[in-house]
Amino acid sequence: MYSDRLSHLPRYLFARIDEMKAEQSRRGVDIIDLGVGDPDLATPPHIVDALCKAAQDPENHHYPSYAGMPAFQSAVAEWYRRRFGVTLDPGTETLALMGSKDGIAHIAEAFVNPGEYVLAPSPGYPVYRTSTLFAEGRVFDLPLTAENSFLPDLSSIPAEVVKSSRLLFINYPNNPTGAIAPSGFYREVVDFASDNGVVVVSDNAYSEISFDGYRAPSFLETEGAAEVGIEMHSLSKTYNMTGWRIGMAVGNAEVLSGLGRVKTNVDSGVFNAVQHAAIAALSGPQDCVREACATYQERRDVLVNGLADIGYRVEPPRATFYVWMKVDDSMAFSARLLEEAGVVATPGVGFGACGEGYVRFAITRSAGRIREAVERMRAVGL
Ligand SMILES: *Cc1c(COP(=O)(O)O)cnc(C)c1O
Repeated sequence: MYSDRLSHLPRYLFARIDEMKAEQSRRGVDIIDLGVGDPDLATPPHIVDALCKAAQDPENHHYPSYAGMPAFQSAVAEWYRRRFGVTLDPGTETLALMGSKDGIAHIAEAFVNPGEYVLAPSPGYPVYRTSTLFAEGRVFDLPLTAENSFLPDLSSIPAEVVKSSRLLFINYPNNPTGAIAPSGFYREVVDFASDNGVVVVSDNAYSEISFDGYRAPSFLETEGAAEVGIEMHSLSKTYNMTGWRIGMAVGNAEVLSGLGRVKTNVDSGVFNAVQHAAIAALSGPQDCVREACATYQERRDVLVNGLADIGYRVEPPRATFYVWMKVDDSMAFSARLLEEAGVVATPGVGFGACGEGYVRFAITRSAGRIREAVERMRAVGL
């Protein structure tokens, strides 16, 4: 019944964990879910207020413009200037997205012919792979390992692969490993891309979620970056707006135009009232972001210190709300954790073959619940 394209998608590796979770729920187990990368914190009230107000204005009830409202595009450009010192032309170098997943899912169709390569991190956000497969491209895995500080080794990609590579996905601060890009990394990426005619897609969804004084850069701060690529950004993680579906792609105008042409045929833009709320988020006070980071930092410390107490040595991440922990067998560990302790963590192999040997904890539950999760692990001897 299904197309080959659909049948060839990778098996949904979280299905077994989902089944087990449902089974534990039926039995009345009080599950502590550290599996989902979805903030438990609420969207700040000034953003919700802006949506309510805009939703009442009939002007906002029509089809939006494809690229985003001019006021939204300007707010994005202004935010990039303030936050990263990056100058963007709002009209040609910004594009509204229905969340960054929208941009990631559609970009391969604009740049990849059947059989051509997309370079994507493994472990990595699963949509880099599925987007490539929908365009009938081939994925070349860039292994992110502890030995290489979870950075891709671009010099190790075989020449014949490089020759037919069209896109390179990079993602720092990184989901799922929590790694950050050291200075000099983006320079290497820009040089690789311009030497080989590869379009770079920097997924910067976690730039604002950072700790210990660390501030993540934008890929576009690097000289020459705007000639070779774009950055996908999202309000989802920064302002606890995962359900609102708004993000943006910024950078190279020609690349954005290609993505925009695909999207014009798929969706009809982001509800204007949501764009008004996004303007309030990007242009308004940012204390809410600092407070969220303080909350995550406390939770990170509770989890990392708690895990250390029971014998797991984990590097405290300096950004993202994920803790990436080494285990023997990721699926077996997640299964035991759920069945014996009622705690959900995501098996690393679900993010690609090179994620095997790890599990990912999302610190999207309260410090008290995280403490309890560690206590349960101790109690069952995990
Ligand atoms: C959450 C996430 C996204 C997608 O977020 P949207 O809600 O679609 O904006 C993209 N990339 C990574 C790495 C993510 O973790």
